[in-house]
Amino acid sequence: MRKPSKKFFLFNTLTKKKELFLSLSPPRVRIYSCGPTVYGHTHLGHMRTYTNTDILLRTLRYYGYQPYQVMNITDVGHLTGDQNVGEDKLEEAAKKEKLSAWQLAEKYTAEFFGVLEKLNIARANVTPKATENITEMIMLVGDLEKRGFAYQISDGIYFDTSKLGSYGQLANVSLTDLEEGARVEKNPEKKNPTDFALWKFSSPENKRQMEWPSPWSKRGFPGWHIECSTMAMKYLSDCFQKGKFYPDRFETIDIHSGGIEHINIHHTNEIAQTEAVTGKKLAAFWVHHNWLQVEGRKMSKSLGNFYTQEDLVDRDYKDFMPLRYLFLNTHYRKVLNFTWPALFQAAQTYKELIREAETVLSFSGAEKATSDRAKIEWKKSSDEKKKISYFLNKFDQAILNDLNTPQALAVMHEVLKGRNLSSRIRWEIINKFDQVLGLNIEEQVKKLRQKGKKIPQEIIFLVDEREEIRQKKDWQKADQIRAQIEEKGYLIEDTPKGPKLTPKQ
Ligand code: AMP
Ligand code: ZN
Repeated sequence: MRKPSKKFFLFNTLTKKKELFLSLSPPRVRIYSCGPTVYGHTHLGHMRTYTNTDILLRTLRYYGYQPYQVMNITDVGHLTGDQNVGEDKLEEAAKKEKLSAWQLAEKYTAEFFGVLEKLNIARANVTPKATENITEMIMLVGDLEKRGFAYQISDGIYFDTSKLGSYGQLANVSLTDLEEGARVEKNPEKKNPTDFALWKFSSPENKRQMEWPSPWSKRGFPGWHIECSTMAMKYLSDCFQKGKFYPDRFETIDIHSGGIEHINIHHTNEIAQTEAVTGKKLAAFWVHHNWLQVEGRKMSKSLGNFYTQEDLVDRDYKDFMPLRYLFLNTHYRKVLNFTWPALFQAAQTYKELIREAETVLSFSGAEKATSDRAKIEWKKSSDEKKKISYFLNKFDQAILNDLNTPQALAVMHEVLKGRNLSSRIRWEIINKFDQVLGLNIEEQVKKLRQKGKKIPQEIIFLVDEREEIRQKKDWQKADQIRAQIEEKGYLIEDTPKGPKLTPKQ
């Protein structure tokens, strides 16, 4: 593995610039990624964001870092009004689906993880649920109150944004603009329009399923933003120990990621909460992913313009790699407009890529190498070494320049088509690239081979012989032949239409 010495430039929303990424405690990189609100189906918009997050993690690993990622699951407190008003998204959806809020959260969390797996996205090291961290959230709100950053009004405890001089720095828009945005929600009791709820009181008329006692009221629930501040501080900095809160232990994390809609409110408020108690920056780098749109509008549950894994399967996209390919073909900071013809096109290109990779493998001799070591250490001429490093560098230039995946894909195609490169070199290089791109090339090539494999004549004879014997009801002999067939690498299944052969994995 190469040392994390390669220069990696990453766009930082905090400074609005591409900056040299340096880990605060190399080789570790501590990352917090805002996870999903589990009140509905995982849709293609989520899939795009988390595929791009996965690229960031794979890139860090490829260049020798050891990322440690926390991704929360929001299972309470995200209101339909996004800020401080409206119903809890989970409670509302649970009523519609006639499930408890807990069952609903479990159902959609499982769906989310299932989809990640299909997209070849590695799970974060920790995936804590908001509802498992209520005690810690109450401690953080209490600390903010003690320091004079919080005040109580009739529906909850609020953060006083006028107390924090740096409020709004991430959004990099004037406070007046942020205030204008926040005015949409009219609450005459708030001191400033940008103030936001840290802890909400359950309304007396409305019995909630998810609510907890707190020092401020018998029944209440956390604000959405406090969840992420708390979980980042707990799981990335050990700020909570044996029922106590130690804000001084907090150390700025390396990267915080999320969608661009989080910049103005959710992340601005996370920063405010954490920085008010620690006096330290929450994160050194803020990475924001742009949207997947449909006809010019963000794909979202509320607009009803979303597609889920079911829609993919219905259209015969059981394998999600073409979708991953489609995502990678647009830079993560650009909008991607989703259409089914675009996915079809991506699927054709992806299939072609796998076919080419299969040809490369068959001419590479890599399969004949007897051990993994031999595969890696085949003797290369200096000319071959030069060629390999030329393409690896070209790939580095793409990925290390703010994760330019479209350009990285172009380098991959160039290698596959490279006329003056030996197949052995090509196979080695594309598999290296795939460590970052995660397109599952080796596995897909193997699948393609299995599909196209001709069944040897000898096996066909054995199957026919077994059929004749089965007609004569000599089961013992038929089983012996089945064992012979299995020994030769095929499984046989007797179906109403006759015997079905599948190559053993
Ligand atoms: P949510 O479940 O709405 O809280 O969203 C979870 C994550 O998915 C956030 O980081 C969102 O930015 C992201 N997300 C939701 N919709 C889209 C979309 N249409 N395109 C890209 N990312 C999205
Ligand atoms: Zn968050």
